[in-house]
Amino acid sequence: MRTALRLSIDRIKCDGHGLCAELLPEIIRLDDWGYPIIAAGPVPEGLAPLAQRAVASCPVLALALALALQPTAASK
Ligand code: SF4
Repeated sequence: MRTALRLSIDRIKCDGHGLCAELLPEIIRLDDWGYPIIAAGPVPEGLAPLAQRAVASCPVLALALALALQPTAASK
C-alpha cells in the first residue's frame, strides 16, 4: 500500500459557481447545472499544487484534499 492525494467535494456546501473547475480543469469538470465532477482516481503528483490552490480558493470551503491509502500491484 502507498498513499495518494484524493480530492473530494462536500456537495451540501458547494454553491456551484465553478471556480474549482477553472483552476483545475485537468481533474474537475462541471455538470449541466454548473456543479463540479471530480475525475476518478488520485490527484496526479504534478497537479498537487494546483489542487491545493483550488481547495484554498473555494469560497465556501467545499473542496478537500486528503491522503488515502492506495493499493499497489503487490498488495492486490
Ligand atoms: S469552487 Fe467550491 S463552491 Fe465553487 S463549484 Fe467548486 S467546490 Fe463548489
